[in-house]
Amino acid sequence: MSFAPAAVDLRLMPDPMLPHPAVIEDIQPEAYGISTFSLVFLDPAEVSAYRFQPGQFNMLYLPGFGEVAISISSDPSLPRVVGHTVRYAGSVTRALGRLKVGDVIGVRGPYGSAWPLEKALGKNLVIVTGGIGLAPLRPALYSILHHRETFGRVVLLYGARTPADLLYTAQFARWQAGGIELHTTVDLADENWRGLVGVVPALFYRIRVDPKQTLVMTCGPEIMMRFVIYEALARRIPKESIFLSMERNMKCAVGFCGHCQFGPTFMCKDGPVLNFAAIEPFFGKEDF
Ligand SMILES: Cc1cc2nc3c(=O)[nH]c(=O)nc-3n(C[C@H](O)[C@H](O)[C@H](O)COP(=O)(O)OP(=O)(O)OC[C@H]3O[C@@H](n4cnc5c(N)ncnc54)[C@H](O)[C@@H]3O)c2cc1C
Repeated sequence: MSFAPAAVDLRLMPDPMLPHPAVIEDIQPEAYGISTFSLVFLDPAEVSAYRFQPGQFNMLYLPGFGEVAISISSDPSLPRVVGHTVRYAGSVTRALGRLKVGDVIGVRGPYGSAWPLEKALGKNLVIVTGGIGLAPLRPALYSILHHRETFGRVVLLYGARTPADLLYTAQFARWQAGGIELHTTVDLADENWRGLVGVVPALFYRIRVDPKQTLVMTCGPEIMMRFVIYEALARRIPKESIFLSMERNMKCAVGFCGHCQFGPTFMCKDGPVLNFAAIEPFFGKEDF
């Protein structure tokens, strides 16, 4: 079973480094300093050719500022509009934050590996994520909801610094109604928060897992993922069943430049989604 329409991706087009113009169709503020940009390619042929898999990313190009790697955060079954949830971190992303609906930017992609949803068929899934780490997992959640009956139990453990930093909260009820068990937490509550307070990996204590039947997919700050892996291993979930999405500074995104090299892997083409068993020797090491 495939979780997205057959890919005719833009990497196969003549120049993999060439950005393709796309118009900003919508900008949705998600949290302070974070918005989702919905992009549509100007060329109708590109609109119909473009497909992506959950977990992949695009390079967004702003002339005069530069290019940034941004995960695709929208529904893979609706590829006409390609969503990107962006945190305004530095020069390029802040310039993106000054753009308006109708402005045109360059897009090339999709790049990188995908979440292993095929491996999760018939199994239970524990998705663990913090802050903007939910963005690359949202396409996986859409795919799971479209094929919900093909998975066992699906649990989403999600946390952010404060309640206002939680992304996509308007969709939570729909996800839960669709059969996703959601547990949320925040580091710092406000007067309206009635939920849990604490770090994301501690949410593992809210659930029981059957280690042989469970796959873990995680994305967030590396320190969070380290403790997620610790909790998963403590529950005897095999290393081979743990998948994480890693971020490294990226330039070419096609395995030419080596900027994102991580041990023997290139994060742009072997990652960003990697199996923990494969990267364990390098994980957690600075500047390996
Ligand atoms: C595969 C992949 C997917 C990504 N998906 C998203 C996403 O969905 N949404 C999003 O907002 N961001 C995402 N990022 C991170 C994003 O690419 C960086 O925040 C962006 O490059 C910052 O560019 P800038 O010019 O705005 O800031 P810069 O001025 O380049 O950097 C601002 C600060 O962020 C640091 N930084 C830059 N790039 C990274 C990085 N890759 N990892 C950690 N720190 C970095 C810099 O060292 C600096 O401290 C992703 C990165 C990768 C590699």
